[in-house]
This record gives sequence, C-alpha cells and structure tokens, in this order.
Amino acid sequence: MGSREFARGRRVVARLPHGGDLLAEITAIADEHGMATAELRAIGALSEARLAFYDQATKTYGEFDVPGTVELLSLLGNVSRRDGSTAVHAHATLAGHDGACVGGHVVPGCRIFACELILQELVGEPLERGYDEVTGLPLWRGL
Ligand code: ZN
Repeated sequence: MGSREFARGRRVVARLPHGGDLLAEITAIADEHGMATAELRAIGALSEARLAFYDQATKTYGEFDVPGTVELLSLLGNVSRRDGSTAVHAHATLAGHDGACVGGHVVPGCRIFACELILQELVGEPLERGYDEVTGLPLWRGL
C-alpha cells in the first residue's frame, strides 16, 4: 500500500458512439490521446448492460446481464497500464425504468446508447497493474 502524487494534465471530453462497447470505446479514447494514467467519469444510457461482482472468497468474478435498457447514472473509474496495454477499470451504477439501481464492475458487453465521457489525465510515471497475491486482483504496483 502507498501513494504517489500526480499532476493534472489534459482533460478530454468525448461523446461515445451509439452501439459501441463501453469499455472498448473508453480504451480507444485513452489510446487516441495517449493517456497512460487518468481518472474517468461518464453518464449516459446503455441498450445492453453486463456487470460483474468479485467474490472475495473464491477470488473470481461472477458476471451477470442487467435486463432491459438502463440509464448510466454514474460511471467512475480510472485508466492505467497492464501488460503493456491500456487498462480501463470502471464501476457503474445503472437504473431501470422504475429508478431501481444495480451496480457493479464493468465488463465487455455494455452497449452504448449514448454516453458523455470526461477523462482527466494524471501526469507522472504511469500506473502499472500487476497480480496481487492477497486479493487475487490486478492491482496498482509501485504504491
Ligand atoms: Zn472493479
């Protein structure tokens, strides 16, 4: 455990493409602007949604589909590096037609209906992910 300081860098605002995959499109924007480390937030709507929950006992993710179309109330996360590639880690809070919420770890399979993304670049030595023995998760190294 630890911490490190970063400076604020560029801020990129993007409208993500209708029909695109949420994680893939955010990754593409980060790559397009050469952002190795960033924080992200977004709102919008999804025509299909798939999330995951990490079981701490078995150290495995269980994925689940969210039925229907949903509002993307809040997408929070970050961009860092893993195995030489851009790694987007994001958690979503979604709401259906009655306002009831569901949330989880975003995995491939979230289809964008509309999405407004803000990426805030963090300038410094890029954050790298690596396997963490204690949690079984690909956590940040060097902190
Ligand atoms: Zn997560």
